[in-house]
Amino acid sequence: MKDCPVICPVCGSPLHFAEKTAVCKNGHSFDRSKEGSVNLILNGSPSAGDGAEMASARKRFLSKGHYSHLLCGLKESLRDYIFPQSTVIDACCGEGYFTNALQKEFCEASFYGFDLSKRALRYAAKDSQKALFFAANISSVPVKDGSADILLHIFAPVNEKEFLRLLAPKGVFIHVFPGKDHLMGIKRILYGEPRQNDERSGLSDAFEVISSKKISETVVLDNASLCDLITMTPYFYRTPKDRIENAMRLPYAETETEFIIDICKKNGKIKRIKK
Ligand SMILES: [Zn+2]
Repeated sequence: MKDCPVICPVCGSPLHFAEKTAVCKNGHSFDRSKEGSVNLILNGSPSAGDGAEMASARKRFLSKGHYSHLLCGLKESLRDYIFPQSTVIDACCGEGYFTNALQKEFCEASFYGFDLSKRALRYAAKDSQKALFFAANISSVPVKDGSADILLHIFAPVNEKEFLRLLAPKGVFIHVFPGKDHLMGIKRILYGEPRQNDERSGLSDAFEVISSKKISETVVLDNASLCDLITMTPYFYRTPKDRIENAMRLPYAETETEFIIDICKKNGKIKRIKK
């Protein structure tokens, strides 16, 4: 098994893990939650991330398998690139639903999840069999240069410079972002005639897209799952309160879900293969 690529965010030395702390050879010490995640956010850095309500809503929603089709698509994508000794880094892992499920599927590889939300990481670490979870700022992930054989990034803004640093020379970046019709059913309920999402990855030519696939499925949600989905999206904060309340009274709802999975490598010209 390869060494743990996670380093001390102060001096860059390797970290050694104990039950309640992680320490480096220079005596920098970091707290470990009772669930096992390590807080590598330095004092003075922003440490908010997603709040309790959003994290628990997403945890419940994903646990019910409403995005299991995305998980299947990710398993297929990883299968083409992963090998037993792979180091997989999930930047913005949230509650760890995808990280833990993929670790279970590819049990010989080593998975490391990072997120700003300590609350979300508690769920992630609690459900973990082997993956390790860390609170960290995604603009400066405390991981050795070039250690990610696979870098996973699902539904969050990309920090290109940092991601290029993390990626091993022959590593792949698996970038998941919403398709144009993602959550149209929910948007129709909230806004009447909604606009489609901008279906572009937003990556520069620093990454070469070697394959791209779209995963679509209509999901039917009962009231509890509908409320959770609305709570875990940005619409919850952007939409007038009365519209949110009306939507949350519906007994059920149906919505399209649409995900793009782009597999990228460093450099080269962009070549998109539609499946
Ligand atoms: Zn240190």
